[in-house]
Amino acid sequence: MKQNTIIAIDGTSASGKSTNARIIARELGYIHVDTGAMYRTLAWYCLQKKVDVHDAKAVGALCRKWKTSLQCTDNQVHLLVDNYFPAKEIRTPEVSEAVSHIAAIPKVREWMKNKQRECAEFGNLVMEGRDIGTNVFPETEYKFYLDACLQERSKRRAADGIQENLAARDQRDSQRASAPLMVALGAMIVNTSEMTPQQTSQKILAEIRKRLAANEQAQLAKARS
Ligand code: C5P
Repeated sequence: MKQNTIIAIDGTSASGKSTNARIIARELGYIHVDTGAMYRTLAWYCLQKKVDVHDAKAVGALCRKWKTSLQCTDNQVHLLVDNYFPAKEIRTPEVSEAVSHIAAIPKVREWMKNKQRECAEFGNLVMEGRDIGTNVFPETEYKFYLDACLQERSKRRAADGIQENLAARDQRDSQRASAPLMVALGAMIVNTSEMTPQQTSQKILAEIRKRLAANEQAQLAKARS
C-alpha cells in the first residue's frame, strides 16, 4: 500500500512556518498539522490544572491521563482535550512562556511523537514544528528548515500584537537534550528574512514538486526492472 507523503517544515519561532505550511498544504491539497499548537495545548492544560510546568514528573503524569482526540476538519488536524480545541487560549503570553518548558520533557516528547505519527492516517500531510524532520518523520524525503534574523522575526510577532522574548524560547528549544531544534539531514534551508510568504512558499513548492517527480521516476524505473 502506498504510504502517505509527509512534508516536514521545521524552524525557529516566527520564521514563517505556519503561514507557509498553510499555503503549501492548500496548493497541494494536503492536510496541515501545526504541532506547536499541540505542545501549546498541553502547556495551557497544565496551567488550567495548576501543574508546575517545570515539574517533569507531574507534567508527564498529566500527559499520561489527559483525555485527548485528534480531529481533522477543513484539512487541518487539531488535538482536542476533553473534546475541546483551545484555539485562542493557547496563544496567550502565559502559554508562550510555559510551552518550551513542557516541550523539553522526554515523556512529553514521546507522547507527542506518537500522536503526531498517528496524524498520517488522515492523509498526505504538511506538518510544521521543531523536530518533524529529525525525530517525528525522519524517514521523509521532504524536509525544510525555515529561519530569519531575530530582528525580522520579532518585528513579525510585534505586527501580530505579540511581544515575546523569541531568543529565549529558541535557545531553550535548541539546547534541550531531547529532540532539540536542529536542521535535519537532507533538509533544504530557507532564510525568509527578506522574502514574502508568496516567494517562500513558491520556492518550497518548486522543490517539493522536483523531489516528488524524481521519486515517481525512481518508482517507475523500479517497477520496470
Ligand atoms: O510553533 P510554536 O511557536 O507554536 O511552538 C511552540 C513551542 O512548542 C516551541 O517553542 C517549542 O518549545 C514547542 N515545539 C516543539 N516541537 C515541535 C513543535 C513545537 O518542541 N515539533
